Amino acid sequence: MKPRDDPSRRAGIRREPPPFREVVVEAVRHLTPYMARVSVIGDSLKDMEPPEPAASIRLLLPMPGSQELPEINWNGNEYLLEDGSRPVIRTFTPGRFDAGVGRLEVEVVLHEAGATSSWVRSAEPGAVAAVSGPGRGYTVDRDATAYLLAGDTTALPAICQLIDVIPAATALLVTVEVEHEEAQMELPSHPRLECHWVIRRPRQQPGAALLAATRELHIAADATIWAAGEAGAMFDIRKHFLEERGFDRRRVTVRGYWKHGR
Ligand SMILES: Cc1cc2nc3c(=O)[nH]c(=O)nc-3n(C[C@H](O)[C@H](O)[C@H](O)COP(=O)(O)OP(=O)(O)OC[C@H]3O[C@@H](n4cnc5c(N)ncnc54)[C@H](O)[C@@H]3O)c2cc1C
Repeated sequence: MKPRDDPSRRAGIRREPPPFREVVVEAVRHLTPYMARVSVIGDSLKDMEPPEPAASIRLLLPMPGSQELPEINWNGNEYLLEDGSRPVIRTFTPGRFDAGVGRLEVEVVLHEAGATSSWVRSAEPGAVAAVSGPGRGYTVDRDATAYLLAGDTTALPAICQLIDVIPAATALLVTVEVEHEEAQMELPSHPRLECHWVIRRPRQQPGAALLAATRELHIAADATIWAAGEAGAMFDIRKHFLEERGFDRRRVTVRGYWKHGR
């Protein structure tokens, strides 16, 4: 059977486990007190497909307290540890990739309670991890007259990649919610970029400030929207554009990148 005729493929069922490539940490550099760029290196990355902008990779990490990668088994749907519990596998945006050297950069938000955040805080050069992917990215509409890119800190790596590929003639509005003023970063330059940073108030729900700021924005009715961040907030932002502003759904791409409290 040709792969495209395979019914399990059409139904979205994955039969083959996504392979993980073993890598080691080359360096960790803090871009802000709340974002670290981790560069990982490994021969196994040399034949990885180059990632598209705003794509995804999955990072497998040692279990807390261990420095070795765990044995993982594919159950037809997901990877599990031998005792049936879940390994630490998280999704990130692949950054700069050098196939020649086998090096990939990933920018990780350092938040209070994350397994990856804790790993990054203590990762030394040589620490082991594994990478799978890349998954599909986002294709910029080069004919769009205006773009809005909106998100929280987890979306910043993808937003920077999209700024780089949005044509210079396109009006470009960027809105980013950060938890702390010091989490703001320099964005790539773009001749028509207008950027709004929104600082989350203490105890405010993640994404609430972004939604409020988005509601106030003057955005052309034919603009194209890309937004990513906390899942509940993204649900509301999608609803805002589709139901309150009546945008054409083909022009609205909204992705939940993480879930508050889970
Ligand atoms: C396609 C895609 C691309 C992504 N790209 C990036 C990226 O480039 N950089 C990046 O940092 N993240 C990115 N994310 C989000 C990232 O996968 C999640 O934030 C993930 O939960 C982080 O794992 P962790 O081990 O640090 O925290 P977890 O162990 O997963 O979570 C522990 C606790 O922290 C909370 N939490 C998780 N993330 C955050 C956060 N950012 N702020 C506050 N609390 C949080 C959870 O709700 C949970 O209560 C992406 C997600 C997707 C789907």
